[in-house]
Amino acid sequence: MHAFDYIRAASLAEAERLLGSDPEAKLLAGGQTLLPAWKHGLNAPSLLIDLQDIGGLSELSIERDTITVGAMARHAKVARLEDSGATGLAMLAAGIADPQVRNLGTIGGSIANNDPAADYPAAVLGLNATVITNRRAIAADRFFTDLFSTALEPDEIIVAVRFPKVLRAGYFKVANPASGYVTVGAFVADFGDHVRVAINGARTCVYRDEACERLLSEDLSTDALHDYAVAPDNLNDDLHASANYRAHLIPRAIARAIQRLNETPS
Ligand SMILES: Cc1cc2nc3c(=O)[nH]c(=O)nc-3n(C[C@H](O)[C@H](O)[C@H](O)COP(=O)(O)OP(=O)(O)OC[C@H]3O[C@@H](n4cnc5c(N)ncnc54)[C@H](O)[C@@H]3O)c2cc1C
Repeated sequence: MHAFDYIRAASLAEAERLLGSDPEAKLLAGGQTLLPAWKHGLNAPSLLIDLQDIGGLSELSIERDTITVGAMARHAKVARLEDSGATGLAMLAAGIADPQVRNLGTIGGSIANNDPAADYPAAVLGLNATVITNRRAIAADRFFTDLFSTALEPDEIIVAVRFPKVLRAGYFKVANPASGYVTVGAFVADFGDHVRVAINGARTCVYRDEACERLLSEDLSTDALHDYAVAPDNLNDDLHASANYRAHLIPRAIARAIQRLNETPS
């Protein structure tokens, strides 16, 4: 273990200043990715900037048309959201990992990390959320850029994620039986005049299935998927699942997400 410094930032301004002052510094949320990665020698921060004392970063605020989730909100807290416009989001958060991880992991840490097998990116993209940072607002369509990569600048801090309330939304993942991480997942959101479909676990980065969105915007039912098939090109092919198997799973995950969306009407 190498020597490092640890500071609990008292304000966003302090965290921003510390992060800008040291290119090897890392923000610490719940440590659920950062610490295991460190133990495996995948990173070696010189300074950990703990965000947990910064007031307001863990808040959930429910407005008329939106729900704003603070970057430090733990998964367990989001899972308890009761607003009818947030059922899909709460459903997704409730299915992340186990109680220990859900009580430490945060939405900000999850989407900053952008693991292709993580759950939250599917909700952020499927719900067309906006990522609010210390300096700008980033639309979900521009936020997730590639494998473990986002539009964040090195010294940028996620402050909150703003979700529009939708009529209905459902999420289903085929979870790896050992880790709980996503093999293939689908988030389907009904905006009334259109439908968005986000797929995670299948490629190097979460993506929208626009062909499926067109079908479901005409008819939001599993019948609409009757002739729908996915080619294995560009799908992940690894020890967890082949590209062909993932191609097989995608329409089925979408169908199960539609069923869940219908089980939890607003
Ligand atoms: C055993 C286990 C099982 C898991 N299973 C699942 C699962 O099934 N599904 C799933 O989705 N996830 C799963 N996770 C991941 C977990 O849900 C965490 O959300 C995720 O690891 C991020 O952790 P964290 O919030 O503690 O962030 P940290 O680990 O503290 O940070 C992660 C990264 O994000 C950066 N960061 C943190 N906060 C911010 C911020 N506000 N702004 C900018 N950058 C920031 C950090 O610098 C770091 O690079 C699992 C984790 C474990 C340990």
